[in-house]
Amino acid sequence: MVRPALRSRSLRRRQLRTPGGRTVTHYEKRKPGPAKCAVCGKPLPGVPRLRGSKLRKLPKTAKRPERPYGGYLCHRCLARLLKASIMEQLAQQP
Ligand SMILES: [Zn+2]
Repeated sequence: MVRPALRSRSLRRRQLRTPGGRTVTHYEKRKPGPAKCAVCGKPLPGVPRLRGSKLRKLPKTAKRPERPYGGYLCHRCLARLLKASIMEQLAQQP
């Protein structure tokens, strides 16, 4: 039986073939769920599903879209909010 810490299903199991031909089980932490838009809750494209240490190895530009609110709002919600704020400013002008 494997180590007590590895007996639960909280760790993901990967079956790997070694160069010597044996099949071994590797235990690794599970991937987090996708990042979600703060307004509509849809998954954000362009945001990687990685844990801290692997996320830290990525360049900043690979972690979120490079636009205002990138990685927080989806492009649809951002466009809608920007249009709404511009319309509001235009309505206030004489
Ligand atoms: Zn959204």
